[in-house]
Amino acid sequence: MIDKPIETVMRESKRNILIPADLVATVNQDNNLQHVFMVLTKVRYAKIPVLDNDNHFKGLVSLPMITELMLQDTGITSRPLESVKVKQIMQKDVPTIYERDNLEAIMRYLVDENFLVFVDSDNHFKGIITRRELFKEINFLAHNFNKHYIALPVYNHKSTSETKKAKVQGTKGIINR
Ligand code: AMP
Repeated sequence: MIDKPIETVMRESKRNILIPADLVATVNQDNNLQHVFMVLTKVRYAKIPVLDNDNHFKGLVSLPMITELMLQDTGITSRPLESVKVKQIMQKDVPTIYERDNLEAIMRYLVDENFLVFVDSDNHFKGIITRRELFKEINFLAHNFNKHYIALPVYNHKSTSETKKAKVQGTKGIINR
């Protein structure tokens, strides 16, 4: 569980960590791969959401999923892309979130993934939460924590000499030790 003071300060930032659906590049599940290839190349995002005609979230597609089909024994060709729809190759087992306030789950998920898809209770696509936006929240926390709380060192877990050493390193700005 996230410590309460940490969560409280992160919520203080009042920033919206969600990139709303209308600002997210998406494709329709019935688009052919030639179209999706062009969209992905243009927007320069590694992976984007796939939706149906009613804006339900269906999956994710990335450039490597498409280029794999282009590699043939004879070389590279875009010919197969015209006849294959994105729904045939997209990643379907994608976790989503519908509680935007669940910082705990969001943080855990974004350790391994670049973004998390946000949906409503009917699986309508509402936007994405990216690692970058979460990082801005953590940056806010790092710079604002002591405006809200007084942090005291915990002495009982370390010997006095270890604590003194940690303090000296801290003042010299040593990291990675
Ligand atoms: P970022 O943390 O901004 O680098 O974004 C991480 C990932 O989220 C990108 O590589 C994309 O896969 C996805 N992403 C971010 N912004 C958008 C957007 N506006 N449209 C579609 N996908 C996006």
